[in-house]
Amino acid sequence: MRIEAPGPGELAERLRARELTAAPAVVTLLEDRSKRAQARELLAALGPAALGGEAPGQIVGMTGPPGVGKSTLLGALAARWRAGGRTVAVLAVDPSSKASGGALLGDRIRIASDGVGGPERFIRSMASRERTGGLAPATRAAAVVLAVAFDVVVIETVGVGQSETDVADATDTVVVIVQPGAGDSLQFLKAGVMEVPDILVVSKADTGGPAQTTLNDARAALQVLGAETAPVLAVSALPPGQGIDELEAALANHQAQLNVPERRLQSRRSGAMADFVSEYGERGLDAVGGRRSAERLLIAQDPHLDGQSLVELLARAGGLPVD
Ligand code: GDP
Repeated sequence: MRIEAPGPGELAERLRARELTAAPAVVTLLEDRSKRAQARELLAALGPAALGGEAPGQIVGMTGPPGVGKSTLLGALAARWRAGGRTVAVLAVDPSSKASGGALLGDRIRIASDGVGGPERFIRSMASRERTGGLAPATRAAAVVLAVAFDVVVIETVGVGQSETDVADATDTVVVIVQPGAGDSLQFLKAGVMEVPDILVVSKADTGGPAQTTLNDARAALQVLGAETAPVLAVSALPPGQGIDELEAALANHQAQLNVPERRLQSRRSGAMADFVSEYGERGLDAVGGRRSAERLLIAQDPHLDGQSLVELLARAGGLPVD
């Protein structure tokens, strides 16, 4: 006998009831390209129009080059959040997909195995869009719907190319992590190649002098950008830990000061644009009269429409097929 996967209506209801065990099936549905209509139904049922407002969870982006200490720090942070009774979902975006699946899985196991299991902490590795490290539509969608049920949703990406900008577009708060001696990352930041973070973290603070130098460089870089109000924190994720409380507080503080509906609305529009281009290509943009006219169309819509409905709307406006 074949057991039927739960449908979008049931999954939406379970997430709205904050039933965290629905998370794996939700992400699987969103990633299944043969179930696009069902995914759209799920997203509409969990969109701001149906909810009567934005999903309550905080959506955090954590990004930085490989080896900088993202997963170790995330493990420490997640433990802190759990200790405070908060539920946590982590979507780890793997830019090289199958090729490095092993390494990434190793990291995930490390996060998962620090003693606090259960559905209150959900971790899922997701493929990136092509090799640019950009976010796939499924990741964007998963973050938004998981924020209906989880207190914190983290999108973790390796900071290469497109990923920082995409993460900034898809999250409420962006944490960029650099490690001691990371001159390159700070150069990228100053040159405007990298999105200006909401919080900048210098990892491996236990290394002492080099971390302090990088902390000063990071502050100087933000000053050049006129972003000196963004917190810059030195953090060590190795026991006994350092700066984790401060990072947790900085994250909470950012959310408290943020105009969440405004940021989410911007996210839906820029996410819809990115998803539309990723699905229909530049020819899709031509069909709707170019990027500018696509943007105008998005702005003219009901601000509570979910991102996927916006993509569909663009497609129909361009006379393009919707599968
Ligand atoms: P990711 O690739 O950014 O996720 O980095 P990882 O979390 O896998 O860490 C890369 C390496 O840095 C590992 O060998 C970690 O043990 C080490 N590491 C992570 N955090 C710290 C830290 O706070 N201090 C020190 N000294 N090493 C760390």
